[in-house]
Parts: sequence; C-alpha cells; structure tokens
Amino acid sequence: MPRDKKPPGSLIYGPVPSRRLGHSLGVDIVSYKTCTYDCIYCQIGRTSRTTLFRRPYIELEEILAELEDRLAEGIKPDYITIGGSGEPCLNSDIGHIIKKAKKLSDIEVAVLTNGSLLWSPEVQKDLMDADLVLPSMDAFDEESFRKINRPHKDISFDKMLAGLVDFRKVYPGRIWLEIFIVRGINDTEEAMAAFEPCVKAVAPDKIHINTSVRPPAEDFAGRVPAQRLEHLASVLGHGAEVIADFKEKACAENEKNMDGEILAMLSRRPCTASDIAAGLCLADEYVARRISELSEAGVLEARESGGRIYYLKKN
Ligand code: SF4
Repeated sequence: MPRDKKPPGSLIYGPVPSRRLGHSLGVDIVSYKTCTYDCIYCQIGRTSRTTLFRRPYIELEEILAELEDRLAEGIKPDYITIGGSGEPCLNSDIGHIIKKAKKLSDIEVAVLTNGSLLWSPEVQKDLMDADLVLPSMDAFDEESFRKINRPHKDISFDKMLAGLVDFRKVYPGRIWLEIFIVRGINDTEEAMAAFEPCVKAVAPDKIHINTSVRPPAEDFAGRVPAQRLEHLASVLGHGAEVIADFKEKACAENEKNMDGEILAMLSRRPCTASDIAAGLCLADEYVARRISELSEAGVLEARESGGRIYYLKKN
C-alpha cells in the first residue's frame, strides 16, 4: 500500500503555545483530512470521505526521523502531541510512534483524538504508553452526534460512548475530555443535563469546554460567547473548564486567503513553516496545508539547511 507524501519537514510543527498543553510539539501522522468524522466545526475544512480504515498512511521512518532531528535541537516542549490534520488513531503505526517518542526523550506524550475508535482493542492497546489522551465528546445522543460530528456510517453514538467508557477502564494514564459547543445544537442547559451521565460514565481527569474561534467548515457552526460557555461549564459541573481562546479570533480572521502574503514573505527570504505561522499570525495546521498545496502546485520549493526545512518561492 503506497504511503501518502507530505512535504519534508511538515510532519513536526512547533512547539506552539496551546491553552490545553502549554508548549506543544505537534506530530502529524495522517494525511490531510483522513478522518472518521466530518465535524461541522472542523477548522481545517470538510472531510471529503470519512474512513475507518487503519493503515500506516505516512511512512513511519519519515515521522520518526523528523521527530528525532527536531528533538536533537535541544527543544523542551511540555508535550510531544500526536495529532494533526485528521484522526491520528487511523494510523496503524501510532503505537510504535508513541513508544519511540517516549524513548527519544523524557517529554510526556499526548494524543489528540476524536475518540471515535476507542472501542477497538487494537487502538486501546496502541494508546497504552501515552501519558495523556485528549478525546472529544461533543454529542449527547445519536441526533446531536449526526448533526455535529457527521461520523462514518458505521460509528453510532452508543458505540463511540461505550468506547470512551471502556478505554477509561483499561487505560492507566490521564484523560482530558473536550466538549465542543456549537450554537443552536448543544448550547443549552438541557444539553448539559444530557451530557452529565455520559461524562460521569467516562470519568475523565479534566473536562475542557471549547467553541469555534477559527472559521469552521460550515458557517452555521456558530461560536458561543465566553460568558455563556462559563455558565454551561458550571451547569455541567465535574470541574469543567472553558479553554476556548477568544484572543485567537484576531488570528483566525487572517486565514481567509493568505496565499498572496505567504508567497510575498517567501519571495523575500526562505522561512520554515513555524516562521510563516508566527510571522503572519496563522495556525500551524493551516500553514502546513497551504505549504502542501502550494508545493504540489509547483509554486514553492523546500530546501534543507541545518536540519530545518525552509520554503522559498520558485521564480
Ligand atoms: S475536527 Fe477533528 S475529528 Fe472533526 S473532522 Fe476535523 S479533524 Fe476530524
């Protein structure tokens, strides 16, 4: 089975500041929008076809070599975070990647997952060595699940929830659950009352409440104001905390169409993906996607220097 290609240097990003994880070194282990869901709030666009098929997707050696090189620079993030531009548990090498990351340094390893595959004994086994797993649970019944997450047809709400509950029983590490609130769908006191037994059954160590601060896949996936989120968190209880970063909105506004600015920056000097994100106030995932598409279109070229990948505009 051929592996998907990403531009060299684009598999590891950051460290980036994260409200949930401090300074997080991201490891992207699936190709763009390889996902079991097609969430209406997704900040990296629509999923053209959801899948449950687990396979390596990206060459294991490439991921590990880039991670090893980056760590060899002496950086000290709070977490090495396995995630990226889709659902990382679809990568059947995730267990090896976690184990290797643990061997390479004493930095804790976190996995950002939508939680849809935690019923699978293989996925449960693969995640055992992670220090922290951050699954999502945005729905409280089948109807809200279909409306918000638009999952693959073979994943029901009950199956997803049973997976989370089951995983909690076998996993010895920390679980921080995220609930993404979408205006008009799960933003009521009634929704919080329906979430409560689900949250109790999963028994996470922390609950994080979030909402759209960046442009969502669908315009109707509206953001819920900060004050309302605080109220919903207090109604839900269990120590739920609001982690939506409303300050990011200013950056999100920048993401409408930045190809011109990215190319103008790269025609002045070669930059890494992190330089572009920091210089233009853009999300790392967005920059990785634009680099991938501009490279495929033959507009950019990548050059390695001192172990870093620099991009420049082709003449
Ligand atoms: S938000 Fe996450 S789980 Fe939902 S579609 Fe986007 S990548 Fe997949």
